[in-house]
Amino acid sequence: MPRISDYLETIEPELANTARLFGMEGQLEAFRRDCREEDGKYVITFRGENRSATRSAEIPSDPDPRVEELHRKRTARRLCKQTLYDLCRQISGIQPPWGSLTGVRPTHLMLEALSQGLSEEMAVRRLTEDFDVTREKAELLARIAGVQRELPAPGDAWMDVYIGIPFCTTRCAYCSFSSGEIGNGSLVQPYMEALTREMRAGAEILRESGRQLRALYVGGGTPTALPEKEFRMLMEFMKEVFPGAAEYTVEAGRPDTLTRGKLRAIREAGVNRISINPQTMNDRTLREIGRSHTAEQVREAYALAREEGINHINMDVIAGLPGEGLADFAHTMDEAVRLAPESLTVHTLAIKRSSPWGEQQIAYQQGRGEAAPLPSGETAAKMVRMGRETAETLGMRPYYLYKQKYMAGNLENTGYALPGHECIYNVDIMEETSHILALGAGGISKRIYPEEGHIGRAPNVSNIEVYIARTEEMILRKRELFL
Ligand code: SF4
Repeated sequence: MPRISDYLETIEPELANTARLFGMEGQLEAFRRDCREEDGKYVITFRGENRSATRSAEIPSDPDPRVEELHRKRTARRLCKQTLYDLCRQISGIQPPWGSLTGVRPTHLMLEALSQGLSEEMAVRRLTEDFDVTREKAELLARIAGVQRELPAPGDAWMDVYIGIPFCTTRCAYCSFSSGEIGNGSLVQPYMEALTREMRAGAEILRESGRQLRALYVGGGTPTALPEKEFRMLMEFMKEVFPGAAEYTVEAGRPDTLTRGKLRAIREAGVNRISINPQTMNDRTLREIGRSHTAEQVREAYALAREEGINHINMDVIAGLPGEGLADFAHTMDEAVRLAPESLTVHTLAIKRSSPWGEQQIAYQQGRGEAAPLPSGETAAKMVRMGRETAETLGMRPYYLYKQKYMAGNLENTGYALPGHECIYNVDIMEETSHILALGAGGISKRIYPEEGHIGRAPNVSNIEVYIARTEEMILRKRELFL
């Protein structure tokens, strides 16, 4: 029978994430830890800087030994992280907006609480009391859960399809893909040949599995970075092999990659949602972040898309970009209101170490080189609030949310949409409640086993050249997963 210490053997990275919420990851090693089982309970104590925190929880039991094992492991790990959180909170006096939540999808917790029969108010209280989430964030989750419950429910009979186009015109400064993963154009032809083979095989897998296509999403990279001829071929082939989805999305992230011809190909393929993403409407910042377009090109792309009859455009913006203050973000929000997208995703900047900016910021913190100053967590929080107010001005509701590591102010990314314009694929990918067949370099296919609380994965390699060389192996992985 495993003991509490067995369940905690590999918990160090998660503890580091908890300590990082307070900027205390460097102090973790100095904290003393005591984990024991006492009177049918797990009891954990952390001590450091003349303070201590202790928490306990009933040891779960279940007639099914596998379920029992899962619950015990989850309880022990959660308890350990929360006890460390209590100690860091005592020492620092800081309340992070998402409390002790790390490595867990916050909406899962809200949906779990509601599915257990808790009222919305009780579910909000559980999040604020058990996980120290601020009331503002817990209420946001409750609103999101309410919208998600209106959407068509996923289920075993359905499958989403993702098609990845890993090409971009330039590399954004915050992009954490390696340049070997974001192609430079010379690989377009062989990549599209490999992808076409995988798409055909993917359609076979979908058919043989007996499932229906739910939502199809073409992402990247920037799919519209493909030359017009290849882009049209992709759209036509997509519609031929994957007909009948309720939702087709194509990311057209960089406005300077859109042409009238590509927009027509999008419309003729039955795509009913595209994404044109300024990230910011300030030209100075656009130059800083390495995007090769201007705010004016964003306006032109929106006008062109409307002229071509596209009636659902999503807009992505980023709060917390280096060098930006509240006035800059307010300007982006004013422009968003003028452009009137049907959905708006407000991201918070996350600088990963592997991005060009990650390297630059590390060097800057070590006293080497220059870097634009990052807005404080407080300023980023005000921007995120401004994003929510803008979405409300546009008549939108929040419908999905996720957190990532290294986000400014430990904040979040939130998707807002006009009622009826929620992107099912976005919800599915974040909530991990739907099977996903992912095609193309870097795509990760997922098979959901709800009974076991388990997700089976078949990842495609992300390096484009390796993907081209090993496409058949990627197909086989997916056949094994789904059939
Ligand atoms: S558009 Fe996306 S994938 Fe392309 S460089 Fe920018 S962040 Fe990376």
